[in-house]
Amino acid sequence: MYGAIEAGGTKFICEVARAPDEVLARRRIPTTSPRETLEGAGRFFLESVSALGPLKAMGVAGFGPLDLAPTSPGYGSLLATPKAGWSGASLLKPLQDALGVPVNIDTDVNAAAMAEARLGSGQGYRSVAYVTVGTGIGVGFHIDGRSLHGAMHPEAGHLLVRRDVRDMEFAGCCPFHGDCVEGLASGPAILQRWGRNLSECSDDGIPMQIIGGYLGQLAASIALTVSSEIIVFGGGVMALADLRGMIERSSAQQLNGYLPKPARIAGPGLGDRSGIVGALLLAIDIAARSS
Ligand code: ZN
Repeated sequence: MYGAIEAGGTKFICEVARAPDEVLARRRIPTTSPRETLEGAGRFFLESVSALGPLKAMGVAGFGPLDLAPTSPGYGSLLATPKAGWSGASLLKPLQDALGVPVNIDTDVNAAAMAEARLGSGQGYRSVAYVTVGTGIGVGFHIDGRSLHGAMHPEAGHLLVRRDVRDMEFAGCCPFHGDCVEGLASGPAILQRWGRNLSECSDDGIPMQIIGGYLGQLAASIALTVSSEIIVFGGGVMALADLRGMIERSSAQQLNGYLPKPARIAGPGLGDRSGIVGALLLAIDIAARSS
């Protein structure tokens, strides 16, 4: 049995499972302070252990930015984040201390990319990108069976994009860059600009074209840099509006026939479970390494 957490900015989804299709217990914990949230998660797993038996390992798919340098004293902690109270908080140590099992951690989007590569839309592809479009925009990569890390982890949601001429007024909502992809195309950017969700902006289709255009530029940048064979788009904004066709068109327009084999744009084969399934796979992997 394994423990898995998809640690998000608004909620922590906690599960105990034997396999991705064999979930034995589940709890949603609202994300409040680090202490309260992680104690709540620890309590759920301890209760599950008394009811169901011991855990072999835990996997955490966490919101970022995260310190994932294996030798860093802050390994598994959040770096500077606009999320109040969470900068420097460890997603790893409180769980290790409470549960006494190996804990494996990666970003929510790298974990989702791994889950889609192994069990979802990315099966059969060597190079899979996963993009979440929701409260923020994050991009994870799974290439030749491994998640992509570097000095930290990719942060392609903060790439700069060319402005749509119909969208020159809105300054963008990223506190660091203003009009990066996240600043222009995330859920909060849509809400700040038009006062409603994308699926409710159906009057003339222009908001959809603008957002699809920015996400298409992101897809083209991913195809040109990492050369992913498939780019899976998930997250709340994607679920609300059928943007995929728009992204495909915009990406093809940007690339203008340059790539002989452009990346396939797809929806998540695991629906909204890519992140939590990724967390479970992280747990299974570390248990296999530790035994
Ligand atoms: Zn940014």
